[in-house]
Amino acid sequence: MLRCSTFVPNMAPASDKTPGFCRDCLAEQKGDVRRCHACGSPRLVRHKELYDLTLAHIDCDAFYAAVEKRDNPELADKPVIIGGGKRGVVSTACYIARIHGVRSAMPMFKALEACPQAIVIRPDMEKYVQVGRQVRALMQELTPLVQPLSIDEAFLELEGTERLHHDPPARTLAKFARRIEKEIGITVSVGLSYCKFLAKVASDLQKPRGFSVIGQEEAVEFLAPRPVTTIWGVGKAFAATLEADGIRTIGQLQEMQENDLMRRYGSIGQRLSRLSRGIDDREVHLNDAAKSVSAETTFFDDISRHDDLVPILRNLSEKVSWRLKKNGIAGQTVVLKMKTADFKSRTRNRRLEDSTQLADKIFRTGLDLLEKETDGTKFRLIGIGVTDLGDAGRADPPDLIDQQSGRRAAAEAAMDKLRDKFGKGTVETGYTFGGKGNR
Ligand SMILES: [Mg+2]
Repeated sequence: MLRCSTFVPNMAPASDKTPGFCRDCLAEQKGDVRRCHACGSPRLVRHKELYDLTLAHIDCDAFYAAVEKRDNPELADKPVIIGGGKRGVVSTACYIARIHGVRSAMPMFKALEACPQAIVIRPDMEKYVQVGRQVRALMQELTPLVQPLSIDEAFLELEGTERLHHDPPARTLAKFARRIEKEIGITVSVGLSYCKFLAKVASDLQKPRGFSVIGQEEAVEFLAPRPVTTIWGVGKAFAATLEADGIRTIGQLQEMQENDLMRRYGSIGQRLSRLSRGIDDREVHLNDAAKSVSAETTFFDDISRHDDLVPILRNLSEKVSWRLKKNGIAGQTVVLKMKTADFKSRTRNRRLEDSTQLADKIFRTGLDLLEKETDGTKFRLIGIGVTDLGDAGRADPPDLIDQQSGRRAAAEAAMDKLRDKFGKGTVETGYTFGGKGNR
């Protein structure tokens, strides 16, 4: 088993009172020791907030490759790449192949240039899905609040599980990691924190077989020197935009005003401002609780005029957006639903380039779809919603072409703030104001 240098993100020096335990034998540790007093293992975890934190991100290590190695012990010490096939890229590289410079999404010919001795295996998705399900089933024994992000990673909220497991979340998670190794034969990395953003950052710090903790107290200081790409949703393109503005580190974002960031980058400005300070209110939720979020209304009298439908559509879009924002999710396909006076259903949908939670985006897409339907037909119902739901982390990147959309997104965020403060009916946009509403 490979072992990374043990980088422990807690910056406060461990005192005798800092809680900790051994991840191998689970013995509690006291004092600033390097090895477990009971079993001698160096795999200790110590942190001031260790037994207060409840939100975890669990990620399987080099998942596909780990499954293949498990099923063929001869591969254990060899560099293994999963990939090839139609796309000809690396989907997963084991840690030995990574040492040679192989990365996911790399074209296969480049990967083999870097590591000619690598063994390439075609992905066996059916098998990985099955193992992924086993891992998830064990996660669900820890807490019902498991939110999968993909086949091999999930957020878990363990608040209130102490009575069930007779252990604080940190120890429950360490036991879980041991159990996965023993029963499934692969390894996981655990990130423990107080919010989703930092739990995910933490799980990546010590891979493979990692267990990292980021507490509330150290969050700002921990984030400051890190690159902006650490922030969820900041990809290469947006990082380049920030770089052009002279912003490279999260610390620089911490020094900027939220308003300023929103004026420059639209809705993502708000996310930058908050996440840079370790503020992330998104809760762990069940993905399959909802496959779509929508709102609809049936009219008292049938409506055929386009202009009469517009304010209603706006109103419904705002309802949908509000629910998405409240749950920290976003949708990538906008669905417009209509029922004609003679009870015929019409459903129109459009897949967006990026997922969204913005009322404005949902409304404008719906309006576009509505345009072709208002041909004099009388309607008795209209509804709008989004499907292809996912976490809001990558939703609504700044639109570099349509500068207006950034401004509208900033305006929407400002309105959301007012609504949070003074209640939902406080702010009316031009479309709903004076509109006929739900007649
Ligand atoms: Mg993984």
